[in-house]
Amino acid sequence: MSSGILKSLLGFPGSWVLVLSSVLLTIAVVTFPSAVRAARRRLNKSPIPVSVNYFFSRKCNKECGFCFHTAKTSYILSQDEAHRGLRLLKEAGMEKLNIAGGEPFLYPNFLGAMLRFCKESLHLRSVSIVTNGSKVTENFLKEYGQYIDILAVSCDSMNEKTNIAIGRGDGNNVKQLFRIRDWCRKYNIKFKLNTVVCRLNFNEDMFDLVNELAPFRWKVFQVLMVCGENDSEETLRDVRKWEITDEEFAVFCDRHRAIPAFIPEDNKVMASSYLLVDEYMRFMDKGSGKMVESESILDVGVEKALSQVRWDHEAFLERGGIYDWTKEMPVPQKPTAKELAASGSLDW
Ligand code: SF4
Repeated sequence: MSSGILKSLLGFPGSWVLVLSSVLLTIAVVTFPSAVRAARRRLNKSPIPVSVNYFFSRKCNKECGFCFHTAKTSYILSQDEAHRGLRLLKEAGMEKLNIAGGEPFLYPNFLGAMLRFCKESLHLRSVSIVTNGSKVTENFLKEYGQYIDILAVSCDSMNEKTNIAIGRGDGNNVKQLFRIRDWCRKYNIKFKLNTVVCRLNFNEDMFDLVNELAPFRWKVFQVLMVCGENDSEETLRDVRKWEITDEEFAVFCDRHRAIPAFIPEDNKVMASSYLLVDEYMRFMDKGSGKMVESESILDVGVEKALSQVRWDHEAFLERGGIYDWTKEMPVPQKPTAKELAASGSLDW
């Protein structure tokens, strides 16, 4: 509506009421259907996918020996279809999206458009990315940092030879890690570190360097075997030689427990406690050891697709799935068990 038309409209007595009513009516029409859907899900006690991990592509430029989401396909949805699926998830209650892969930064345009869509159109409370860090650039963060709450970089060792032996290394991982940490500070993104503990690094002492790096969270995972992904000579990776016992994982954890950001996650907690969506927009369940996929959210909707996989909501809460998701909250805060139970939400 041009300002001239608006001015003449507002000149009539009571016309501003008409304009205001139209605006309110438009807002109601846009938001009502998703509010009704969310309310219905709550009444039916269907789990609400508050926090979702979306693996939009399996393609990666690294070859980690323990990878459990291997490049079995090169499929990737069109931008429009990916956005449609994300909108369906938002309407079902998603508040936090974690974008993973593969390596998301192999598709900078696709990734950038998705980040913008998630914040500007879906208004998600939190958007994070998990990356191996090799393709992250300052230019990308300068342009899209405003849409990223958390950037999680995977690095398993402060020893470059170990990183190379694991398959993620190029001799410069630690240097790149510090560089990304600095860019995150510059562009107001929370910097997170992810480490997988396996036979090659469980004896390592990473205390001093992680302390210096000062991530807001340091997620430490026990290496995980997933049937059909990394469990035999037939799969793209065979992790059997790199598995560690629970005791060995505990030894690594004890060495680093004093780091404030340290968050350990053993196999029992990992299996089925994450809500995973693959490159076809299907929920994935790796809880029973073998990966099971639902039908696509794009074909059957979120509720039906979610009912086709096992998702351990309790394990989500147990591992402290909710924390300060957004960049607005400056200090790391772990919620109490009571707060976790009350909010019923989750995180990667
Ligand atoms: S960087 Fe991640 S996705 Fe790529 S091979 Fe390693 S574990 Fe797999």
